[in-house]
Amino acid sequence: MAQTGRWRYVSAEMASICESEDESGGETPAAPFVHIEGDPAAGFIVLCDHASNWIPEELRDLGLPHAELSRHIAYDPGAAAVTRALAERIAAPAVMSTFSRLLIDPNRGENDPTLVMRLSDGAVVPGNARIDDVEKRKRVARFHKPYHDAIDAEIDRRMAYGQVPGLVSIHSFTPVWRGRARPWHIGILWDADPRLAVPMIAALSSDTKLIVGDNEPYSGALACDTLYRHGTCRGLAHVLIELRQDLIADQEGAEEWAERLSAILTELDRLQEVHEICHHGSRIGPGAPICAERISGIGGDGNGRDQ
Ligand SMILES: [Zn+2]
Repeated sequence: MAQTGRWRYVSAEMASICESEDESGGETPAAPFVHIEGDPAAGFIVLCDHASNWIPEELRDLGLPHAELSRHIAYDPGAAAVTRALAERIAAPAVMSTFSRLLIDPNRGENDPTLVMRLSDGAVVPGNARIDDVEKRKRVARFHKPYHDAIDAEIDRRMAYGQVPGLVSIHSFTPVWRGRARPWHIGILWDADPRLAVPMIAALSSDTKLIVGDNEPYSGALACDTLYRHGTCRGLAHVLIELRQDLIADQEGAEEWAERLSAILTELDRLQEVHEICHHGSRIGPGAPICAERISGIGGDGNGRDQ
């Protein structure tokens, strides 16, 4: 079914139409994001940048065989299920993408050279090979911007309610990368704001059976990614959680991890500093233009507090 008309805002009631998010070729989502309303008093907003592998029919799967679209290059398997289960447990609102990161990666800034990948984990993406600025701008306008506008709107809604929300972003990573097994069960990614990441690493590490990555398998310092844009730039406490995909491959695994994370977040929700606007700066250095107007303390010594 081809996309017709304009994207519409998707509320919790409408979210069920996007249940096909983990499979391409399903029903066309009504918007480039799903919004789950949650409790207005909830302390966190849960985000899922790579929830879906959906690609509009007219782009013909970007020239990729279906097998490529069902693996991690197209989305983060299991992340959507964990996001829903976690949001439900902590009664939090959630914003999830409904499009593949191969179209355009919502976890990259508009000027990032990897915003639209021509090559991803060994796979050439034919539909992106000759992409020009016009097509790139179209994809920003149709997918990337509305997704980020929805996150901003949700943050503004919480602020209007008198709540400074913490941001929790859910991703998943492959058990093996370039022939090497990745030992971590979970990775906590962060830049310079320790408010959620440090206590979360401590809480997870108290379970001796868990191998917890501190900025593994990736670094959390990435200019203009989702948490930079909405967390670092706005001074909101934030953390990016990477879960190993084999551990959340079924609903049972997703529920188990959602339960573990919700217990920790429920504790952290009680900390006053988690609900204060505080600019911790960035390890990246001076912010990109998109953030300049929002940040006063970015770069420098990272101590620009304004709470
Ligand atoms: Zn991801």
